[in-house]
Amino acid sequence: MPHDSDHPYSHLPSDPALRVKALESVLVSKGLIDPEAVDALIDLYENEIGPRNGARVVARAWTDPAFKARLMEDATSAIAELGFQGRQSEHMVAVENTPETHNLVVCTLCSCYPWAVLGIPPGWYKSDAYRARAVREPRAVLEDFGVSLLPGQSVRVWDSTAEVRYLVIPMRPEGTEQLSEDALADLVSRNAMIGTGLAATAERTT
Ligand code: FE
Repeated sequence: MPHDSDHPYSHLPSDPALRVKALESVLVSKGLIDPEAVDALIDLYENEIGPRNGARVVARAWTDPAFKARLMEDATSAIAELGFQGRQSEHMVAVENTPETHNLVVCTLCSCYPWAVLGIPPGWYKSDAYRARAVREPRAVLEDFGVSLLPGQSVRVWDSTAEVRYLVIPMRPEGTEQLSEDALADLVSRNAMIGTGLAATAERTT
């Protein structure tokens, strides 16, 4: 399947990336921006703002069985119900972790990623090492990320493409029956929705 034309199999950044870099360099050299401030903003979008959308989708799925059913049937439409849609998220598929199966998402050819629900991809997601190892030795990758699988749990790896992007629905942690949807969303990290993490337990975040 074809991957994104805006990040082909090239060692040079794409034209937009080069232009952004050039703009950043000019702004920094003229003293108009601080490169550390730019890094901090990127970090915010990678780790905080972007993945909050996905966390809301997961929390809704945990609390609303009808929404969950729609999400598993047609994730793009269900996610759009919450107002999240757009570029790189036109054909979403939700994959649910269960005691039997843990799901892990990769893009082996480039870095396809569901921007509308997860923001911009973290650096490691685009790395050669992750892209190769996620398929070849997913259990070792999960170990590196500190993910402990359940006894007998199998690992299913999903290869993203320009056509299909995956959102992992992590298992709802034990002891969270009383939590509000907002509080549940706070338990859902970006990595939990890629499969390189699990949802946090309620205790760990309080
Ligand atoms: Fe890709």
